[in-house]
Amino acid sequence: MYDIAIRNCMIMLPDFSFKEAQDVLIKDSLIAAIDDTGKDAEAAEVIDGRGKLVMPGLVDAHTHTCQQLLRGRVANEYPMVWTRFLVPFESNLSPEDCYWSARLACLEMIKSGTTAFAESGSTHMGAVADAVIEAGMRAAIARSTMDMGGAIPDSMKMSAEKNIEMTEDLYDRYQGKGGGRIDIWFAIRQVMTCSPELIRTIGEEARRLKTGIHAHLCEHKDEVSFCLQNYKKRPAAFLDDMGVLGPNLLTAHNVLLAERDIDLLAEHDVKVIHCPRANYANHGFPKTPRILQNGISVGLGCDGAARSNLSIFAEMKQLNYGTMAYWGVPIFDLDVIFPRDLMRMATVGGANAIQHGDMLGTVEVGKKADIITVNLDQPHIMPTNNLLNTIVDCVTEHDVIDSVIDGRLVMRDRKVLTIDEQETLRECSKRIKEIAKRAGI
Ligand SMILES: [Zn+2]
Repeated sequence: MYDIAIRNCMIMLPDFSFKEAQDVLIKDSLIAAIDDTGKDAEAAEVIDGRGKLVMPGLVDAHTHTCQQLLRGRVANEYPMVWTRFLVPFESNLSPEDCYWSARLACLEMIKSGTTAFAESGSTHMGAVADAVIEAGMRAAIARSTMDMGGAIPDSMKMSAEKNIEMTEDLYDRYQGKGGGRIDIWFAIRQVMTCSPELIRTIGEEARRLKTGIHAHLCEHKDEVSFCLQNYKKRPAAFLDDMGVLGPNLLTAHNVLLAERDIDLLAEHDVKVIHCPRANYANHGFPKTPRILQNGISVGLGCDGAARSNLSIFAEMKQLNYGTMAYWGVPIFDLDVIFPRDLMRMATVGGANAIQHGDMLGTVEVGKKADIITVNLDQPHIMPTNNLLNTIVDCVTEHDVIDSVIDGRLVMRDRKVLTIDEQETLRECSKRIKEIAKRAGI
């Protein structure tokens, strides 16, 4: 007797090919069997998989669940979005605001096919963890740490010692909670707001607790020039000096990497995350083909909902076209990025980034049942001569029908089962106005 059976579906295999007429059988949070005998094994919950593709749940490997209620506010705002919007906004959030914001973010992510994410950190992260546990999602959650920077109010800035103490307190309360779905990480918000002492200690403490570090890296020119002026080094080399480059470091954006920076990140097996829409809108074109050639594990992130939405399907398309247009077309080289690279980033790359490549990212027996179904029988998808190309280019978040996380059905026929959608929208509509007023944005 299985917990869930998805019968007669197509599945995406780990090499990104496809197999038809399969039964995916789930038990005790795992993919227990994949069966093509048509024997109809018994299960408590049966999903008709005809016309559907079962694929790995997507991983949003860089997001800000506490910026959900900043939606629509930062487009075309340049320069200093950080000091003019993000800092006043975040410093005015109450724990309840963070809880509802994260709840809405989880609701949107589940409906967009995302099953796990890396939260890069704001202030009241216990409230965020509570929302994630209730939503049934999987997340690596960091608390924003900053101990310097003129534009940062005292409410967001504290001593290196206090920062470490607060993250460790969060770790003690939440690590492994939700049946193992929650991991608590350290965060280096960015090199301009963290002292060398804080960064060095984060590296040591993360190693001691065997947990991850989430950092913004080489996101914009000011950051590179700050490092060159203050430390006579580029940001990646500076982080190397601080002892934090390693396989447990996730760096977001990675737009302004020099050739030597890419080598350094590869040498230390750092997990690189691109946020295509945020990068193109504010920062530029990362050297994605070079990064891939170097064998670095690359994932994708939406960078929160302030600018756009939380669709990893949309990020794949943006990175595909942006990379082609910038690196390929001008020199008539169309081999700069392939659909399998993008699909790997959205699944395996994200799973590696949150340190769970061993148990997430593919539809295979023995892996965690973190999977989604996509309705293929639609005129914008079928028929096709190449399903992988079509998924990357044509499938959107709206085509996701069911979602299973850790073996539990969290969305069925596009109805999220763990979160009251109407209540969440109502509460957040009220809060978005109150916060904007308080923050003066
Ligand atoms: Zn970010």
